[in-house]
Amino acid sequence: MNTLFRCFLLLIVVSYFGISSSCSSSLQKDYVAQVSPIVPSDLPAEYAANRGKSPCRDRMNYVPDLEFLDHTPEKKVKVSVHYMLSEKVKNNFNETDGYQFANQIIYHCNKYLKDNLKMSLPVGNKTPQLPLRYSYLLDVDKSTRSGHAVYFHRDDELYHFNGTKSKDKNYGSREVYKKYGKNKGKVLNIFMMEPHLDSLDSPTFQITGRGVAFGDWVKMTAVYQNTRDTVVSPSGFNHVYGRYAQQRTLNHEIGHCLGLGHSWRKNDGCDDTPAHANCWGLTGKPPCNGKAISNNMMDYIPVAQSVTPCQIGTTHMTMSNKTRKVRGCLKKTWCTFNKEKTIEIKQDHEWNGAKDIEGHLVVMDGATLTLRCRLSLPRKAKIIVYPKGKLILDGATLENDCGQEWEGIEVWSYNEDKGEVVYFNSPTINNAKNKITVL
Ligand SMILES: [Zn+2]
Repeated sequence: MNTLFRCFLLLIVVSYFGISSSCSSSLQKDYVAQVSPIVPSDLPAEYAANRGKSPCRDRMNYVPDLEFLDHTPEKKVKVSVHYMLSEKVKNNFNETDGYQFANQIIYHCNKYLKDNLKMSLPVGNKTPQLPLRYSYLLDVDKSTRSGHAVYFHRDDELYHFNGTKSKDKNYGSREVYKKYGKNKGKVLNIFMMEPHLDSLDSPTFQITGRGVAFGDWVKMTAVYQNTRDTVVSPSGFNHVYGRYAQQRTLNHEIGHCLGLGHSWRKNDGCDDTPAHANCWGLTGKPPCNGKAISNNMMDYIPVAQSVTPCQIGTTHMTMSNKTRKVRGCLKKTWCTFNKEKTIEIKQDHEWNGAKDIEGHLVVMDGATLTLRCRLSLPRKAKIIVYPKGKLILDGATLENDCGQEWEGIEVWSYNEDKGEVVYFNSPTINNAKNKITVL
């Protein structure tokens, strides 16, 4: 019979006879009321060297770890789709085909994000293929016919998107968002615009799909022109929209909103996105005479379905940053407690990036967890430190980013062993129901 069980039996007997007794080897759970600074001599050598340097702005600290994917909770970007129509002519998806197309393009965009391809450049690269851990969610709006955030606007002044070569270029104009933007700051608005009808009449006009990103909303053009005659399902009916180039452009533009730069120029802050000539195909002539063309999402190329670890890290750093606009458009998955999403720390870990977790955080026996950045816990969630576990708060900020309270830090003890919580570099502890004072 193990000690814990024997103790449990003793407690039953004791309570039955109403005798008061203390159990010498019981598991105790206590909320931490005070945290003490770590003794300098107990600091590991590398900690002293890092003192004063924040790792929270290093994008590589946000790259998902294949072995511990739960340490990078999935983020969902809420989106809405606006179709800009001319007042008289059907020049874009309308109420008959627009709802279906909105669902399809978001579905296909997510499929691209889910099937992250191996990088084709540089030739022979060993760049890991990691999951992106983010996707889009077409927002709900009960006032529309489909119940989704899909809107149709007939406006001869604002339906068109004129490219860089047009004398009436308006690709940088924010007018369409000013007039028709919905749930601004809370949902990423996608405007599906089209070329000017006069341009379409011109025999020399080239229909080009393109887009532009503005932090937490994007404009696209020519999606309708480019998809309406593409694929027919095997049965010969229903057009299957959203294939080919269009989800590439949308993922690229939303990539900008998530902090990504163009990857071929070498100024995107990532070492794993090589510089190249942005060739659309291999021609055999310089500069497009290499062995492969790029397939990165942030290049201007036909297949843009590869995202590198550094790029994924960048998107998560942006989404974790409370000052970035696009964070407002995320579904607040971290505000609903989900016990299933409890993270168990079974070996030593250092969390050097900000995180929004959805369940408890448990530091198990024999493990040390070092927190250095912002960590949000939902209401009802707590940090539990097992009797032989250790939590180090190294300048971390613990909080509930939902205007509520999280439970606090619970330390477990058993016999001589007691979970340890120490700090250095002045951590901040906010919104804990069981208040914690940093001594
Ligand atoms: Zn771009």
